[in-house]
Amino acid sequence: MALVSLKDVLADARAGRYAVGSFNVVDLVSLEAILETAESLLSPVILSIAEVHFKYVNLENITPTIREVARRANIPAVLHLDHGESFEAVMRALRAGFTSIMYDGSRLTFEENVRRTSEVVKMCHAVGVTVEGELGHIGGAEGGSGGAVAPPEEFYTKACEAVEFVERTGVDALAVAIGTAHGLYKGEPKLDFERLAALNCALGIPLVLHGGTGLSVEDFSRCIDNGVAKINFYTGMSVAATEHIKEKLKKSPEFYDYPGLLLEAKEGIKETVAEQIGIFRSKGRCTPESALCRVCSGCGRRSGDIRTATAGSSLTTDMEKETLVQQIVDATIDVLKRMKM
Ligand SMILES: [Zn+2]
Repeated sequence: MALVSLKDVLADARAGRYAVGSFNVVDLVSLEAILETAESLLSPVILSIAEVHFKYVNLENITPTIREVARRANIPAVLHLDHGESFEAVMRALRAGFTSIMYDGSRLTFEENVRRTSEVVKMCHAVGVTVEGELGHIGGAEGGSGGAVAPPEEFYTKACEAVEFVERTGVDALAVAIGTAHGLYKGEPKLDFERLAALNCALGIPLVLHGGTGLSVEDFSRCIDNGVAKINFYTGMSVAATEHIKEKLKKSPEFYDYPGLLLEAKEGIKETVAEQIGIFRSKGRCTPESALCRVCSGCGRRSGDIRTATAGSSLTTDMEKETLVQQIVDATIDVLKRMKM
């Protein structure tokens, strides 16, 4: 199956000096737009659902569909919780069958962030699910399209703290603050590449860039050259979808075909995702020679050569995995409640 964990795709990205795009799914239209584009460009992809978007998308309703289409895809796809801040969101995503979790404790004190992230890592790793943590403050509001400014430098990720954080929590990837912000930038974004290079040297795990919308091609390139292997991209997709709808209504003010407008939105998303996949250098990475093939049987669906997937976990079937998830959920629920997460 082509549904894999973050570690499976990021190891190849780091080694091959490219980044995998993490695009937010907010409905079936965005899901199909992202996946169809990634498949046509033979690029691995991360399908993310953000906790702040739970108000738009019912997690339990959409997850079985995502898992099914990802399983049938001819590329490796990760089903990832984006910015999980609550205990409930993490547990719901695990129970629904996500293959990766971001636990964002960046608003907490360092010690509290370490403590809670460690617990999430313990729980997730037990069932072969990877975890992304966050240290430092990334500006703007996640999932928003409002104006965004990077926070003051004192909130950027510090290399010495990051080393301690990764060692103590065991996260698989780390979102770092180097001057990016969520949403649409007010003014020109200025990234601290020296800091990024130092973090990359010190950490040895894939780094994650949030707040990708509005950065230049050169910015992305320098980030990838300095260890960024996952790039979150949402606002630009949302803007493109909305612009396509606006354009259609401007040309045809009497257009009242709702699904027709959704197709316009889909086109906008597809164009944006295709452009970013090119910029992130992940286009064409899914070839039978690629190490990605060891984690994904997708190529088999193209060539007729069905391979056996080894998803990097000792668990062999979905059934076993789901049973274990259930056991872990039941066993840890009391502990975490006592921790007041
Ligand atoms: Zn983010």
